[in-house]
Amino acid sequence: MYLKALEINGFKSFAKKGHFDFASQISGIVGPNGSGKSNVAESFRFVLGEQSLKNMRSKKGTDLIFAGRGGQLNRASVAVTFDNSKKTLDIDYNEVTVERVVLRDGSNEYFINKNKVRAKDVVELLAGANIGSTGHHIISQGEADKILTISPRDRKQVIEEALGLKVFTIKKSESVRKLDRTAENLKEVKIEERSTGPRLAYLKREVEKIQRARELRTELRELYKAYFPGKQTVVAQLSALHQQQTELQTQLKEINSKISEGQQEMLDASSAEKKRALEHKRSEMESQLQKVRRDKNESERALGKLDAVLEIEQSKKRAIENAPVQQDDRREAVAETIHEIWKKWAQTMMDEETLSQARTDRWKSRMVPYSELPSVSQDKDRMYADDVLQSLGEEIAQRSVFDPTAMDAAISERANINAVINDLTQKESELQPQLDQIEMELGSPELAAQKIQIHILELEKQSTELRSQVQVLSRNEDDLQKIINRFETEEIHARDLFGAESSSFAQTTASTTVDLNITEKIIRTRALLENAGGAGGEEVMAQYEELKKKSAYIKEQIIDLETSAESLQVLIKELDEQIEEKFRAGMDKINNSFNQFFKTLFSGGHAQLSVINVPVGKPVDDELQEYELGVEMVVSLPNKKISSLSMLSGGERSLTSIALLFAMSQVAPPPFIILDETDAALDEANSKRYGDMVEQLAKHSQLIVITHNRETMSRAGILYGVTMGDDGISRLLSVSLEEAEAVAK
Ligand code: ATP
Repeated sequence: MYLKALEINGFKSFAKKGHFDFASQISGIVGPNGSGKSNVAESFRFVLGEQSLKNMRSKKGTDLIFAGRGGQLNRASVAVTFDNSKKTLDIDYNEVTVERVVLRDGSNEYFINKNKVRAKDVVELLAGANIGSTGHHIISQGEADKILTISPRDRKQVIEEALGLKVFTIKKSESVRKLDRTAENLKEVKIEERSTGPRLAYLKREVEKIQRARELRTELRELYKAYFPGKQTVVAQLSALHQQQTELQTQLKEINSKISEGQQEMLDASSAEKKRALEHKRSEMESQLQKVRRDKNESERALGKLDAVLEIEQSKKRAIENAPVQQDDRREAVAETIHEIWKKWAQTMMDEETLSQARTDRWKSRMVPYSELPSVSQDKDRMYADDVLQSLGEEIAQRSVFDPTAMDAAISERANINAVINDLTQKESELQPQLDQIEMELGSPELAAQKIQIHILELEKQSTELRSQVQVLSRNEDDLQKIINRFETEEIHARDLFGAESSSFAQTTASTTVDLNITEKIIRTRALLENAGGAGGEEVMAQYEELKKKSAYIKEQIIDLETSAESLQVLIKELDEQIEEKFRAGMDKINNSFNQFFKTLFSGGHAQLSVINVPVGKPVDDELQEYELGVEMVVSLPNKKISSLSMLSGGERSLTSIALLFAMSQVAPPPFIILDETDAALDEANSKRYGDMVEQLAKHSQLIVITHNRETMSRAGILYGVTMGDDGISRLLSVSLEEAEAVAK
């Protein structure tokens, strides 16, 4: 790479566009004092990204823009063009123009091949080629011996830069900045982690509670489903018990009233009134009994007769069945006659007392067959009828009288009479003991009372038994009621906990038997559920999930940051090692070269650089004292003894610093070097040596020398003259050595 051209426009005294073509390895810039030569050197600093206005002899940005009698221009620009065909600059162009513009408002713009970029981009691009705004390769007027006066630490920096280590130091300081930022971020993230930790732990506990509560709810639901259907059974049991109890109460009531009656009877047993009442009752009962017996006798007699008649009727029936006969008109006539007799007879019988009203009614209401006649065997008409029948002959009589309906009626009548007899027998058997009792009571009142007493005792025993049964039932009822109460209490809890769903619990088809252990389980589970809390379940779960994600993200971030901090530390260490290694290697070479240049310039003597530890800050404690590296310079002149650099004369200082600057430039040649009157203090002999050294340097770097020195001018391939007229504007012209000499004066 080499420097091709420089274009200045509006910068400082260059109000008009000035163009330099650096077609030679050594270009000289000459001109009278104050014509603007140093402004050219500064224009290099400016375009290469110098940020210090002081280094450009200005106080503010606008000082860089031309300001003449006619006022100030709006902008100043400087563009430098490099040949990059060897790709020394890390950019894919064969020619690279870097331009910087400063505007009236003090703002700056940077361009690389007309593309707007940041200052940083320019600095980084150039650093890769060992070029910078400051440092060793632009030596401003009167600043050559600056390298002697600066601190060992700054000197080390200058040497590092000269050795092309700036790229590494930029990288290192970037990495250190990144590391600091990473450490800061890590600190913040860890603070965040610490703040989320307890909340996350709290939410985790809450979520566990919620899950526990959900499990308990499920358990409780199942328990309720097994429990509530049993209520129906218990309610039914209770109502059955209730029913039983009511019945027992009724019985008890009856028994108790019987007891009271008995007791009353006991009291009454011996009284005269009672005796009279008993006697009255006895006669009543006796007559009742007599009547019953009479009726019964009569019925039995009627039954006997009916049996006889039935026997006859049956024999008639048999006769008909065995010997069916032709229809006989006479039969009808005879039957008619007999009917007439019966009717008459019946009429007569109406008055007879011996016939009961009922019978008479029945008799009158229909025509009954002969067999149904009541017991009136002595009756004449009957006898007459019998005679007639006899006379008509047995067969006809039988055939004409037998009527199946009559026979059925007789059978039915017989059953009726039997029923009546049974009825009367029953009555008789009931009346007799009662009568006996009355007889007995009348005969012996004490015995009667005793009997009542025994009866009362018997009743009381029954009463006691019933009462104890009632008590047992009551206790059972109480127990069942308690179970029902328990159900009802639990129903309220279930409604509170499960809302409308709770009403479905009783509707399951689960077993309806009541497992009493289940209530204990329910109470226990419900208590656990109530203690479990876990309110606002969904919200807490969501918060927990969110925080968990956040916490995981924070952890990831921590890992990322720690990893990048680690790799940055590794990188910084590697860079340190590289810088250290290159620096030490470079230092050796520079030392060597420095000593040689020094010897050349001073015709002997010795110059030496050494790396020293420089304490950082104020020492507080020896053990805690931190050190950094610096570069110290020691020189010895031929035939002179000096103890420090400050003892050197102005010329000697100039020669020493030139020796070092040249040594640095020789070891790590920059693409170009600008030397602004570095030769000002040299005498003729040294000017010659200086000229030789310049030529030596020009083998590896392009040189731009600003000079008044003829010897130096003579080494340049191109000479530019800078002049300034009364208008205060610098002008450029290409000149010959002879012209240059004239211009320089
Ligand atoms: P010497 O040989 O004495 O070192 P020189 O040729 O290096 O002189 P410079 O120092 O480059 O001269 O130029 C200084 C001149 O530039 C001064 O005359 C100064 O007024 C002029 N100058 C500096 N800044 C501006 C500006 N912003 N506008 C106009 N002129 C300026």
